[in-house]
Amino acid sequence: MESRNYVEFFEKIGEGIYKCTACPFHCVLKEGMVGYCGVRSVEKGKPRALVYGLPVSIAVDPIEKKPLFHFYPGSKVLSLGTLGCNMRCEGCQNWEIAHRTPSQWNYAFYKIMPEDLPRLMREVDADGVAFTYNEPTVWAEYVYDGAYEVKKSGGYTVAVTNGYFSEEVRRKWSEVVDAYAIDLKAVFPETYAKFAPGIKPEVVMDNIRWLFDQGKHVEVIVNLMPGVNDSKDERKAMIDFVASVSTDIPFHITRFFPMFQMKNVPPTPVGEMLQFREEARSAGLKYVYLGNIRIEGGEDTYCPACGTLLVKRDGFWVSLNKINEGKCTECGYKIYGVW
Ligand code: SF4
Repeated sequence: MESRNYVEFFEKIGEGIYKCTACPFHCVLKEGMVGYCGVRSVEKGKPRALVYGLPVSIAVDPIEKKPLFHFYPGSKVLSLGTLGCNMRCEGCQNWEIAHRTPSQWNYAFYKIMPEDLPRLMREVDADGVAFTYNEPTVWAEYVYDGAYEVKKSGGYTVAVTNGYFSEEVRRKWSEVVDAYAIDLKAVFPETYAKFAPGIKPEVVMDNIRWLFDQGKHVEVIVNLMPGVNDSKDERKAMIDFVASVSTDIPFHITRFFPMFQMKNVPPTPVGEMLQFREEARSAGLKYVYLGNIRIEGGEDTYCPACGTLLVKRDGFWVSLNKINEGKCTECGYKIYGVW
């Protein structure tokens, strides 16, 4: 690889005043001010991600847990997350870290610089590194620098993201981040407004399309929240959008559970998940999965051409993989993904 081009997603707009360019909120920050995500600021006259190199959650996960089902199945991924989020959803499943600022954090931080990641990845016998658990955009520079080091050492790189990042971030990430698990929480602004005010869904959708068109590996996740993002119109619009990018994109429908400030919203009814899967399949999406729920076959991959069961998953474990060189072993149909 060529030498790393150090990045900083801030723009100086006045003496001691900076605009953060990591996400569309474009927070304007002065000394001591913290952005909407809670972890980007100006300190001693310099703009910075306060959590750079400071993860709070580290684990080795099966890649299926991200979820990425069509990207090195059965591999292990070193997973890191830190504090902060630029979407701050009311129903956040990781609110203990995503809705915290460093000053609200009473526990220790790990200290892992980008150049430490390849060694750590090898020590835990992982095949790649994922930036996950909280929104990677809030430490976008660390994701870029870390992914660069991991790629240089031969590992793969993953971002698990809400998709709400700027064109600058996606352009730089696309140089070094191989795969993206992107949440599509809604397509109508008024729906995002119910649980994450100020979000422009077109940004998320444009990032999904752009990354896919660049040849990056993309899987889309819809967490179906009863009475929030599950209207018939919204479901159809989400499916139509993904199909308009590519019917190859793996489409994960995940079950919502009451959490954080959305404890009044019930778990997604199983029947509704099955119905949504049917709608997605009928619209031509080739790989539709059900997550956060155990339903026989809900996480398995079938050949879209001949119907052969190709990948059987039990929870996060792959118990059968009949894809050979990216193709169905029965009929030779090319299966989207990196196998
Ligand atoms: S990443 Fe954070 S500081 Fe930067 S614009 Fe978005 S919310 Fe504001």
